[in-house]
Amino acid sequence: MTSPGIPASPDPGVAASSDARDAVARAKAANLDLVRFLYADHGGVIRGKAVATRFLPERIASGIGHTVAMMAMTMLDTLEPVEGMGPVGEVRIKPDPATFVELPYAPGAGAMLADLVRPDGEPWQACARTFLKHAIAELAADGYAMSAAFEPEFTLGRREADPAGGPDRLVPSDDSLCYSATGFHQNHDYVMEAVRALNAQGLQVEHYYPELGQGQQEIPIRYAGALRAADNHVLYRETVRGVAIRRGQWASLAPKPIPGQAGNGSHLHASLSSLADGTPVFADAADQYGLSPAGYRFIGGLLAHLPALLALTCGSVNSYRRLQPQFWSSAYTVYGMDNREAAVRICSPLRGDATSSVNLEFKPSDSSANPYLALGGFIYAGLDGIRRGLSPGEAVNVDPATMTQPQRDAAGARRLPLTLTEALDALAADSLLMDALGPLRSAAYLAVKRAEAAAFAEHDAGWECFQHFLRF
Ligand code: GLU
Ligand code: MG
Repeated sequence: MTSPGIPASPDPGVAASSDARDAVARAKAANLDLVRFLYADHGGVIRGKAVATRFLPERIASGIGHTVAMMAMTMLDTLEPVEGMGPVGEVRIKPDPATFVELPYAPGAGAMLADLVRPDGEPWQACARTFLKHAIAELAADGYAMSAAFEPEFTLGRREADPAGGPDRLVPSDDSLCYSATGFHQNHDYVMEAVRALNAQGLQVEHYYPELGQGQQEIPIRYAGALRAADNHVLYRETVRGVAIRRGQWASLAPKPIPGQAGNGSHLHASLSSLADGTPVFADAADQYGLSPAGYRFIGGLLAHLPALLALTCGSVNSYRRLQPQFWSSAYTVYGMDNREAAVRICSPLRGDATSSVNLEFKPSDSSANPYLALGGFIYAGLDGIRRGLSPGEAVNVDPATMTQPQRDAAGARRLPLTLTEALDALAADSLLMDALGPLRSAAYLAVKRAEAAAFAEHDAGWECFQHFLRF
């Protein structure tokens, strides 16, 4: 979509891509005043800066200047000492114009997802979106492309001050039963606004249902290519919160915003296809679960790297309050056929679409993670399984919490890390993921996350849940 007469760039020397020209034309046609350039940091927080529309062409070309230190910032806005991320040094928040959207919940504003690049325009070694691009390139080198979807749950409610002066509470929007029709009634106006806002940004809403926890909602989005899936998840997080805040409500995707209530997962669904001819790589009609050898090996890689991978997919202190046995969030290193207590679930194919609908669901994943690091780490782990031919062992088709310890030992069912610190220790010891992250990104990530673990260790569950429902 281009509008004639709108200059693509004020500088004729800067050749704008057609995506850039389209983004500028759409921003002007919609009379936007500001366009947000958004990225996700090591604390999992979405941050950014906005540009006035009249300067959009040049800022698409150059990015907006930003301090390197922001990738050393925790979710509590404390700056951690990381070599190369101090007060000296500059990166640019450089938007990807192909991701331009108008923001239905923020009249007058649009947004784009951004990379963090060096002033010379080269990728910065701590950019999370670049990490996912590298992971996708590794897949492509072996002839694969990934389709993926984050499947986020969130809690809708309102913030209420504590009369005793403690942290605010999140009061849920419904007290309905799981999937109950009453839950549809109690949340209808909010949900309709959120669904329309998601669809208007090109995220394809597939379903809606009120889930188990009080106020818990699930609005799953159609799968997309891996980079788009992570971009979509950022837009999704922004939308469910933005719509709520404008309505005087509060929506939280935190893993456990309310102690004692069901947790909010963001299960990762993924499948591979052949780059050569588009055929599904995970499907094999002859197998008892419909899964191909490459599919089993991908699971083998996920299970082998699971404790370390968790540091990326379950990235907050609050994540580990969710990962409990018998909460359908997964708590053991097992996989199974349609087993919702397994870390990896082989999803039964849809009737009429038996091959292309085969996909894996990775349960220990939530929306406090940086989605680019989470999906990138997931790809590196699974691909390692394919490359090294790792066997995942036998499928476990019972709830592992109901097995005896000797049965779990025989099945290789280990308990997932109980704390963020345990997962970080596993990450630091995982050479594949540490090499993939690279020295600057891994040092900053570990420093940020270890600082968060130390900070929350000084406080009780109420403060932890409050801080997480504020940020996520
Ligand atoms: N709320 C669960 C979780 O924390 C998931 C429930 C479901 O299977 O949808 O992951
Ligand atoms: Mg669910």
